[in-house]
Amino acid sequence: MGLLDNLLTLHRVDAQVRALRTRVDSAQTYFNRQERELALLAKQRTDLETQLKQLKAVVHGFETDQAAAQERVAKLRNELNTSTNPKQYQAILNEMKVLENQKDDVVKRAVEEMTRAEETQKRIDLHAATVAERTKVRDLAKAKLDECLKDVGDRLGELEQERRRAADLIPDRERKVFDRVAEETEGEAMADITIVSLRHREFACGSCNIEVPFETYAKLSSTSDALIQCKACTRILYLSEESRSASSEEKPKRAKAPAAGAAAAAGGDPDSPEAIARDKAKFEKTRKL
Ligand SMILES: [Zn+2]
Repeated sequence: MGLLDNLLTLHRVDAQVRALRTRVDSAQTYFNRQERELALLAKQRTDLETQLKQLKAVVHGFETDQAAAQERVAKLRNELNTSTNPKQYQAILNEMKVLENQKDDVVKRAVEEMTRAEETQKRIDLHAATVAERTKVRDLAKAKLDECLKDVGDRLGELEQERRRAADLIPDRERKVFDRVAEETEGEAMADITIVSLRHREFACGSCNIEVPFETYAKLSSTSDALIQCKACTRILYLSEESRSASSEEKPKRAKAPAAGAAAAAGGDPDSPEAIARDKAKFEKTRKL
């Protein structure tokens, strides 16, 4: 097996490893997002509970003040009943009036704070429902991730071993080139050479369509031990079996061409000016890409 055959084997296994890893990664990413969402909700819950606690403390403060004021009013009422001195009587009456006025204000503010506390409690209840929903989604994501890990785990282990075996057959320098290109192209490290026109010695990179020089094609036709990268997309170029057989078929076709007069009229002769123009146009088009 030549270098390019070994690189193609590595490429095939590498692509499978990448596909499986992508599956696991996306399940993991989805699960992580659900976890983050729940952590955020837990933080919001703590904030709401702190708010509620503070509001309840304020309401309790008002209630205590109010109870003390009521006690004082009861005491003053007693004093009022037993008072004989008109001046003292008026003083008690004045204090009671002040306390009554204060009471109205305290009650109003207590009601406001209680309303806020109730609203906060409602938000906590709604929040709990959201947390329950999100927890269900998170649990589902966890189950999917576990299932994915179970499915993929064994197969990934096998493939990674296979990948190491394939990589071991390739010399260090070439393997590093492959790894770098595979990383840059997300696993698309190899590109088949497209034969645009064998007769006009026009070839293109099967991946990015940029022109490939005839020398590259000639080299890869004669040996499978050369590592040549596309000048534009850096992919490692190779000749597929299809391209090899296409190039060997072209020769007999050309030999038959003069006899194929009818085919030429129909535009089927590869040597006809129309065919040449077509080839040329196709090549020009790919060159612009
Ligand atoms: Zn290319």
